[in-house]
Amino acid sequence: MNPSPVIGVLALQGDVREHLIALAAADAVARPVRRPEELAEIDGLVIPGGESTTISKLADLFGMAEPLRERIAAGLPVYGTCAGLIMLAEKILDPRSGQETFGGIDMIVRRNAFGRQNESFEAGVTVAGIDDGPVEGVFIRAPWVESVGAEVEILAEHEGHVVAVRQGRALATSFHPELTGDHRIHALFVDMVRAAR
Ligand code: GLN
Repeated sequence: MNPSPVIGVLALQGDVREHLIALAAADAVARPVRRPEELAEIDGLVIPGGESTTISKLADLFGMAEPLRERIAAGLPVYGTCAGLIMLAEKILDPRSGQETFGGIDMIVRRNAFGRQNESFEAGVTVAGIDDGPVEGVFIRAPWVESVGAEVEILAEHEGHVVAVRQGRALATSFHPELTGDHRIHALFVDMVRAAR
């Protein structure tokens, strides 16, 4: 059998540890990634939830923004959750000044679309390509996808809003599967990474 793929978790800010655990449970070798040199050592990358404005700032500071943009454009498999979904968007509707994304998915996103921190919620979400019933979606100041380009596949909606998408080797969810102990979406991403090798 092929050895397990090596999947990085962008470890600038956010819930890095939970993703490392979920990836290991889905049979990947998972490691935190902070420096541009480390991008050479991974087969795929998760961009965690947290605060997209902070991730954007720290990516600049650590010299990660440009190398990451290039690797993603060149086909590095990526999975973004929540703030990570925002970082994969080509465009943010309501960016903070100077807030940049890495791109990768031809979509426009709205930050904090589902409300503030105290309006966070959980809901069952049916995701295309995920068998055995809905996943438990944990939404924390979650964005939604306002519109997508022709190449983007919509994988899930919640109350009429797009909350999971895929474009080629890039996957994104508004919610946080890494917080639930259900590793089906991480397993889907690990399969995408294996297929890309
Ligand atoms: N609202 C946050 C942002 O704009 C995302 C929240 C999250 O990742 N849970 O980055």
